[in-house]
Amino acid sequence: SARAVAPPFRGTGRTADGHHIDLLVNVGAADGAHHGAELHAEGVGLFRTELAFFDRTTAPSLDEQVEIYRPVFAAFPGRTVVVRTLDAGSDKPLAFLPQAAEPNPALGVRGIRSARASRAVLDTQLAAIVRAAQAEHAEASVMAPMIATVTEARKFASVARDHGVARVGVMIETPAAAVTAAELLDVLDFVSIGTNDLAQYTLAADRELAVLAELNDPWQPALLRLIRIVGAAGAAAGKPVGVCGEAAANPSLAPVLVGLGATSLSMMPNALAAVAASLAGVTRAQCVAAAEAAAAATSPADARAAAAAVLA
Ligand code: PEP
Ligand code: MG
Repeated sequence: SARAVAPPFRGTGRTADGHHIDLLVNVGAADGAHHGAELHAEGVGLFRTELAFFDRTTAPSLDEQVEIYRPVFAAFPGRTVVVRTLDAGSDKPLAFLPQAAEPNPALGVRGIRSARASRAVLDTQLAAIVRAAQAEHAEASVMAPMIATVTEARKFASVARDHGVARVGVMIETPAAAVTAAELLDVLDFVSIGTNDLAQYTLAADRELAVLAELNDPWQPALLRLIRIVGAAGAAAGKPVGVCGEAAANPSLAPVLVGLGATSLSMMPNALAAVAASLAGVTRAQCVAAAEAAAAATSPADARAAAAAVLA
């Protein structure tokens, strides 16, 4: 098991000089949350709720959803649990959110855009999340996927707050969201960077195409510079900036993400120990210097080398 090979991690992510970084887990259901809790994650940074509903042809009821969400809150008493509203469409179609045929599904009606035609589905989900959190004496943090504009974020925040969501955020997955992060944070409590989609949309390269993998490299300087914009906006607003894409699970990239302004990293449970060990070996100042060097590079290879030189 992962526990047999991992160095000890006792649930506190921090740099060598004591700067705290929340190390959280990405989960799709209760078993992932239990695994994360066993491995001492500090909470859940991304609960991909759509994964529970791939086999559904009718929308899940409020009660059914409460039963699915509740154990995830229960696995992390008193901790942050960030629930993402349904990220349907494109690579994750849901039969109960019917879609017109689209020539470019990744640029189509996906994520928060599905709520335009199916507002009732969003309302039921938000009510279920709040009820599940209350049942576990927890406060719900909820974020929407695929936000592109401040108007979308403001609308989502208002709907979520009407349902009683305690903390409202959005995912930063489009370049538009990254460059407007300051204005997004004016209407939100937090943001979380989805580097998988942010890379795909920044480099205009389908994340599913193996032949374009070098464009989707999370060390692409253009991606790092967008993350830096979001990190700076979070620092200026005094609000959390998470990273929940696969990049957060990369032990060499983690210090760079912290240096760019990430306040939490959310990953698959098995990555926690290596990321924690990597952060424990560097100071915050080194993270910032590595981030600046990597972002100033002109290729992923140069960015990696520049960060490694600073962190060596
Ligand atoms: C992302 O895009 O980075 C992300 C975390 O969301 P998903 O991988 O589920 O699209
Ligand atoms: Mg995504």
